[in-house]
Amino acid sequence: MEPYQWTIHEARRRLDNKDISSVELTRSVLARVKAVDGAVKAFNLVTDDRALADAADADRAIARGETGVLTGIPIALKDNMDTAGIETTCSSRILAGYKPPFDGTVPARLKAGGAVLVGKTNLDEFAMGSSTENSATGATRNPWNLERAPGGSSGGSAAAVAADMCLGSLGSDTGGSIRQPAALCGVVGLKPTYGRVSRYGLVAFASSLDQIGPFTKDVRDSALLLEAISGADPLDSTCSTRPVDDYAAALERGVKGLTIGVPREYFIKGTDPSVEKAVQASIRVLEGQGATLREISLPHTAYAVACYYLVATAEASSNLGRYDGVRYGLREEAGDLLEMYMATREAGFGTEVKRRIMLGTYALSAGYYDAYYRKAQQVRTLILRDFTKAFDAGVDLVVTPTSPTGAFRIGEKADDPLQMYLSDIFTISANLAGLPGISVPCGFDDNGCPVGLQLIGRAWDESTLLAAARAHEAQTSFHTRRPDL
Ligand code: GLN
Repeated sequence: MEPYQWTIHEARRRLDNKDISSVELTRSVLARVKAVDGAVKAFNLVTDDRALADAADADRAIARGETGVLTGIPIALKDNMDTAGIETTCSSRILAGYKPPFDGTVPARLKAGGAVLVGKTNLDEFAMGSSTENSATGATRNPWNLERAPGGSSGGSAAAVAADMCLGSLGSDTGGSIRQPAALCGVVGLKPTYGRVSRYGLVAFASSLDQIGPFTKDVRDSALLLEAISGADPLDSTCSTRPVDDYAAALERGVKGLTIGVPREYFIKGTDPSVEKAVQASIRVLEGQGATLREISLPHTAYAVACYYLVATAEASSNLGRYDGVRYGLREEAGDLLEMYMATREAGFGTEVKRRIMLGTYALSAGYYDAYYRKAQQVRTLILRDFTKAFDAGVDLVVTPTSPTGAFRIGEKADDPLQMYLSDIFTISANLAGLPGISVPCGFDDNGCPVGLQLIGRAWDESTLLAAARAHEAQTSFHTRRPDL
């Protein structure tokens, strides 16, 4: 095994044993990026120099015995997280060349924890999409099949882990953007409870839904990376002050005695039969480990996609108002101020972002607000209530497919926004309800592409989520498979 193929915990052990230095590990990872990213295109920017400098710092820290979980570990960040002095573009022309003057909280915590920054990964522009095709820098490819999409919007972060171009990465999830690409790329992706991780310095898409979370090669790494980024932040008032659990300690708790809800509404026509088969087999694995299965109903599921595309677009239309040619990135000179705004936004935003801004502006406009935005907020409450009822009735976790299909072809859904929106049908509800969700590899579809199993937990109960994910992983070997590149 090459160092770039290690998990975070494996690398930690080797670094602590002084079997390898962080500089050597980082060189191995950078060589891997050089070898395969021409084909995968996961990165918008590879920060080689910074990575080697971080690694040298980490080696000095290790020599002094000042070692944390992430000291010397090469990590990639989705290119919608502000990094001081390092271009942060959200894969949009409008932010081309933008170098933030500050680090977001998550990048700052990684830096303080001694992590090595490998680079910034590609995404659908402003995280709007499910395929990483809506990117001003071009599409990322699925490492399992280069004709297919890695999912999105954090497709670059998912593909970078799947192709061993970093040991772990971070993405953001507003409606599924961590879990869906994790499923399609065969890696572990976790969206924390809303408020578990600071959003300070995460470029806002839909502020009431956005959360940062980890992509990793296994469940243990997910626990480690989540713990490193979680916890109170005075710079984000929506970030909770609740103490962070010891996630690693919860990993081997198993599923014995847990009740796992299988929601009827998530096992529907339209899901690829080979996906359904892999998911059902994995549900049996959990049962075999001592979990009790219970069929449940989440009756408002059918409204989730519609509700999400009102709430998310409304918030996006407001959040993206700041890109006006005055304060950030691109500026198109034109007649007067209004013309400059219009020319800048016309040239700077891609089609999908414009579509969202228009939809959201419409949903918020006088006369339509009650019919659309207010109604969507009410439906959002009903969706949360469905989950609360199930949890109150003794369900500990809900299990579903992560995505109705495996990786689809690049271009297949690009001209059909509704088809694209439907790829998030199983992930969106957890965002609307603010609940934590994880996707773990659970098999392969008829095309030989990975399938993901989603677990959704109670708010703040990432520990149970990780324990169940680990129990499944311990009985299966899907997470050890890597694409041939
Ligand atoms: N695919 C969904 C969308 O297009 C979710 C994106 C996300 O989670 N950032 O909005």
